[in-house]
Amino acid sequence: MNSKSVLVAGGAGYIGSHTVVELINAGYEVVVVDNLSNSDISSLEGINKITGVKPTFYNVDCCDKGALSEVFKRHDFNSVIHFAAFKAVGESVEQPAKYYRNNLLSFMNVLELMVEYGRRNVVFSSSATVYGDADELPVTEDTPRKPATSPYGNTKQMSEDILRDSVRANSSLRGIALRYFNPIGAHPSALIGELPRGVPNNLVPYITQTAAGIRECLSIFGQDYPTPDGSCLRDYIDIVDLAKAHVAAIDRMVEERGKESYEVFNIGTGRPVSVFELVHVFEEANNLKLNYKVAPRRAGDVPAVWADTTRANEVLGWRAERALVDTLKAAWQWERNVRGIE
Ligand code: NAD
Ligand code: UDP
Repeated sequence: MNSKSVLVAGGAGYIGSHTVVELINAGYEVVVVDNLSNSDISSLEGINKITGVKPTFYNVDCCDKGALSEVFKRHDFNSVIHFAAFKAVGESVEQPAKYYRNNLLSFMNVLELMVEYGRRNVVFSSSATVYGDADELPVTEDTPRKPATSPYGNTKQMSEDILRDSVRANSSLRGIALRYFNPIGAHPSALIGELPRGVPNNLVPYITQTAAGIRECLSIFGQDYPTPDGSCLRDYIDIVDLAKAHVAAIDRMVEERGKESYEVFNIGTGRPVSVFELVHVFEEANNLKLNYKVAPRRAGDVPAVWADTTRANEVLGWRAERALVDTLKAAWQWERNVRGIE
C-alpha cells in the first residue's frame, strides 16, 4: 500500500478542501470522493490554483458501498480522512433518520472497505459537541462525554465508538478521532473557504454575510450567560491550523508512532473567546462596523466550551498558530471574493 497516498471523503467541503491543500503541501497524493451534497466542484479548482495539483476526484456517495469500493480497487492509499457527513444541528433534530443514515452508513462503509482492502489509517471528524455542557473547563480528552442533545451530536459519539470498536476488532486498523472546536476562516489566498447554503447557522459566516449586506443584522444569542460579558464562550480554531492537524494525525499513523491503535485529540486554540469579542475583533481587523443586536438565547447552546490542547501539542506536535485577527481578515476576504465585493 502507498503510505504517501490519502483518500479524503468529503474533500470538496469546507474543512476537507483546506485539508487537501495541506496534504498536498506535505507531499501526499490525494484522492477525493464527495457527492457534492453540501459543496461545489469549484473548491477543487481552488485547490488546483493554490497547489498547482488537481487531486483525482470521484463524485461518489459514501453510502453507496459498491461505488466506493471501485475507488478502493483503483487506488492504493493506505490512509483515509472521513469528513463526509451532514452537519446542521437543527436539521438533524427535524430529520433524524437522514442524519443517522448518512453519517453512520457512510463511515461504516469506509471502515468495512478499509478492512476488506487492507488499508490501515483513518482519521475521523469529531466535534467538541461530544462534551456538551461540561462540568469542568477547559475540557481534556478524558472529560466525560455528555449525552448528545441532537441526532447530529449523537452521530459523532456513535461514530467515535464505532471507530474505537473497529480498531479493537481489527489489528490491521488504526484510528484517530479529532474533536474540532469551532472552525472558522478561509485560506489566506481567498481561493477556498466556507460556502454555507441558505441562511448560515454559524457565527462567522453570519457575520461576513451581514458585513456584505446579505443579512440585515447579526443577532447575538444571549447576553445573560454566566460569562464575563454575558455572551457564550467558544474556542475558534483557524481553518488552516485545523487542516494541518489532519496532516499531523496522518503523519503520526504513517510513521507508526505511539502504541495506541485508537486515539482522540482536541483541536482548538485553548483560548475562550466571547461572541462580543469575536464581533469586535472582526470590526477592528477589517476596519468596518457591523450591524448587530442582542437577541434571546438560542436553544441548545452551552454557555462555554474550550479546549485543553496539551495532548495535541505534545503527542501530535501540533498547535494553533494563526492569530484571530488574521483569521477574521481571511474570512472577510473570502466573503468579498465570493460576492465580488471590491
Ligand atoms: P461540509 O459540509 O463543508 O463538508 C462535508 C462534505 O462531505 C461536503 O462536501 C459534502 O458534500 C460531503 N458529503 C456529505 N455526505 C456525503 C456522502 N454520503 N458521500 C460523499 N460525500 C458526502 O462540512 P465541514 O464543515 O467541512 O465538515 C466536515 C466534517 O467535520 C463533518 O463530518 C462535520 O460534521 C465535522 N465537523 C464540522 C465542524 C464545523 O463547524 N464545520 C465542527 C465539528 C465537526
Ligand atoms: N451565535 C450568535 N449568533 C448567530 C450564530 C451564532 O450569537 O447568528 C453564537 C452562538 O450562540 C454561539 C456562538 O455564536 O455562542 C458560536 O455558534 P456557532 O453556531 O458558530 O457554533 P456552535 O458553538 O454552536 O457549534
